[in-house]
Amino acid sequence: MAVDATQAYDDQNIFARILRGEIPSRTVYQDDWALAFHDINPQAPTHILVIPKGAYVSWDDFSARATEAEIAGFVRAVGHVAREAGLVAPGYRLLANTGTDSHQEVPHLHVHLFAGRPLGPMLAR
Ligand code: 5GP
Repeated sequence: MAVDATQAYDDQNIFARILRGEIPSRTVYQDDWALAFHDINPQAPTHILVIPKGAYVSWDDFSARATEAEIAGFVRAVGHVAREAGLVAPGYRLLANTGTDSHQEVPHLHVHLFAGRPLGPMLAR
C-alpha cells in the first residue's frame, strides 16, 4: 500500500528491521549516517537503495527534521556509493518516491540508485 508521507514513523517497517539486523539484506556500504543495499526486486542492472540510519518516513520528513550532520552524511553517502560502484561516467539516476502519488511503499526514506544501462525517459508515459 502506498505511504502517506505525513504519517508517523512506524518502527516495524521493513527498512527499520533491516537497519536493526532483524532481516537480511545485501549490504553495499554503510557508515554513521547511511546504509546502502541491493533492492530485492531490481528494476535495472544496478538497483541500490540508500537509507538514512535515522527514523524518517520520507524525503519530506528528512528534509524538515534531520540535523545538518545527518543531511550532509546521507547526501555524501549516496554520492560515495555511486562513485565506488563506478557509476559516475556511465551515469545513474536517483529517485526518492514521496507519498501516495509517487507510490512510495516503504515508510522509511530511501533513495533508489539505478544504473547499468541507458535508463530511458524519466517517467513512464
Ligand atoms: P518505493 O516504492 O517505496 O519507492 O520502493 C520500495 C523498494 O523497496 C522497492 O523497489 C522494493 O523492491 C524494495 N524492497 C521492499 N522490500 C524489500 C526488502 O525486504 N529488501 C530489499 N532489499 N528491498 C526491498
